[in-house]
Amino acid sequence: MISIKSEREIELLKQAGQIVGDTHNYLKKHIKPGVTTKELDKLAYDYIIASGATPSFLNYEGFPASICTSINEEVVHGIPSNRKLKNGDIISIDIGACYKGYHGDSAWTYAVGNISDDKKYLMEYTEEALYAGLSVIKEGARIGDIGAIVSSVAKKYNLGVVKELVGHGVGSNLHEDPDVPNYGTKNTGPLLKAGMVIAVEPMLNLGTAKVYILDDDWTIITADDLPSAHFEHTIVVTKSGYEILTKR
Ligand code: MG
Ligand code: MG
Repeated sequence: MISIKSEREIELLKQAGQIVGDTHNYLKKHIKPGVTTKELDKLAYDYIIASGATPSFLNYEGFPASICTSINEEVVHGIPSNRKLKNGDIISIDIGACYKGYHGDSAWTYAVGNISDDKKYLMEYTEEALYAGLSVIKEGARIGDIGAIVSSVAKKYNLGVVKELVGHGVGSNLHEDPDVPNYGTKNTGPLLKAGMVIAVEPMLNLGTAKVYILDDDWTIITADDLPSAHFEHTIVVTKSGYEILTKR
């Protein structure tokens, strides 16, 4: 069932989303060669706690950290570790925060130092795919409209669309109905109504769309080891469009 949030709930989701956006802004300044993903995780944990929230991902289905840090060919769910970021890496950081019982969820891919033109291309057009997906959202649109335009942007730039993982509703649970796939057909799927809150999150690959999961049971990586990018915002559907809750 897809819930319609009350004004009070939307206000709390906005505050949770703002903490996520602010945590991204804060972490961004620390992304440089030599920093470990564990250090970034600790910074995020401290920032979220100091904001009066808790990290949504910590212990979620057993996830052992506060944020997901996925480097280069890692698509999502990378576990923070003692691995140091290197010049030329890209890192996707996924952050969730729970404030007074409501969640915000946003991922972003960042460059570490100077990156290759291929990685710049991947990042630019994955971000474009996110905003294209958001652009069709308003009351009366359908979930399939989002996936249709995301996958058309991916196709235009010859990027692989990860299909095993999807966007989702957000509320008092981190993952709620509906699923928001990054593929689909226009005019199909659940109808969007004002007050629905969803996370739209294209995961696009420079090469094959195929992915698999590592032995740690969390990290998803591309089958051809080419890089992947991930851009995600949590938004609320309005009568005439949408509002981003995880603003920077
Ligand atoms: Mg999400
Ligand atoms: Mg996320």
